[in-house]
Amino acid sequence: MSHTITVLPGDGIGPEVMDVALEVLDAASAKFDFKISRSTHLVGGAALDATSNETPLPKATIEASEKADAILFGSVGGPKWENLPPHIQPERGALLPLRKHFGLFANLRPGSCLPALTHASPVKNELIPNGFDVLCVRELTGGIYFGEPKGREERNGEAVAFDTMVYKKSEIENILHVAFKAAMGRDKRLTSVDKANVLATSVLWRETANEIATQYPEVTLDHLYVDNAAMQMVKRPDSFDVLVTENLFGDILSDEMAMISGSLGMLPSASLGEVKDNGLYFGMYEPSGGSAPDIAGQGIANPIAQILSVSMMLRYSLGETIAANAIDTAAQNAIDLGLRTGDLFTGKNGETRVNTIEMGNAILEAL
Ligand code: NAD
Repeated sequence: MSHTITVLPGDGIGPEVMDVALEVLDAASAKFDFKISRSTHLVGGAALDATSNETPLPKATIEASEKADAILFGSVGGPKWENLPPHIQPERGALLPLRKHFGLFANLRPGSCLPALTHASPVKNELIPNGFDVLCVRELTGGIYFGEPKGREERNGEAVAFDTMVYKKSEIENILHVAFKAAMGRDKRLTSVDKANVLATSVLWRETANEIATQYPEVTLDHLYVDNAAMQMVKRPDSFDVLVTENLFGDILSDEMAMISGSLGMLPSASLGEVKDNGLYFGMYEPSGGSAPDIAGQGIANPIAQILSVSMMLRYSLGETIAANAIDTAAQNAIDLGLRTGDLFTGKNGETRVNTIEMGNAILEAL
């Protein structure tokens, strides 16, 4: 098999961790016998610098991505570009337009904590003796962030602001299919999170979830109200497999999951578009964290989030599941051996402090 991807390293630690992740991708392609054709393009601050602040998302970057099966993204932004007009700032001018252009409606964010790293989680360690591994599937292009009307006006001499939470049934169906399929590839348990005791959109959401569930008889579906889900997430994160929820709830819950995971440096993410004829998704894959300007240029960033973004890309966009699993196992192996980048290092017995390249080499070795 041969796959085409665009690589957008971006800013800050992006290029540093991307180099290491590409080495892992190359090793996986050699070992598991598939070909990757890839081209690297400018995005974010790097693109602004190259175009005299014209755009953080050059046309060539979009055109190359249109021809690809997936985008492997690093991270964008940094103090250098923070005072530019908002519409050309790296995140707003590149990341959001990319999501819109490619119709990326499903955001997948794993919130996981390996057994060897539970000390880094703010959750009491006796509650998570074996760590946890949850996948949050968030609807990304609908709901209250985009619903109309929204605005601000004066009513009876007082300022009033309003937003509209609206979902079409087809939007709910689309995201639920992504979540059920993801659950099929994992432990086959799906929790749908809503606020069906208060919100009309949530009543439709819950009805639709129950309908779609009949198409996935192997998956066990349950429902939680979002306030309860937020509480259960810090009490028993290890009881969840896949969560699916609408845009606003997912924004909050996926950040809660990132926090209890312990380190941003370990967490990948995927934003998926329409499913293609071959059953795979066009997607954009990137670490959950940002460009980390505080440590950029020092070669000490944790490359694991970027490496696990590669494995998510192999799983959801390229159909190379065996290679994806092997990369996940290799990363876990490096952690089990005690290797720790600065974000994970505690100085405990058995830990060895490593830099970005050393962590990458250990994962390559394990692969
Ligand atoms: P950040 O995620 O970049 O950093 C937060 C903290 O986590 C920092 O202390 C950083 O050193 C640490 N961290 C993050 N990734 C790490 C890794 N791989 N290894 C070790 N430590 C890591 O968030 P921020 O400081 O709020 O934002 C910095 C810049 O990144 C801003 O310009 C922001 O706009 C941008 N940003 C970009 C994205 C994106 O590209 N998707 C996402 C979030 C923030």
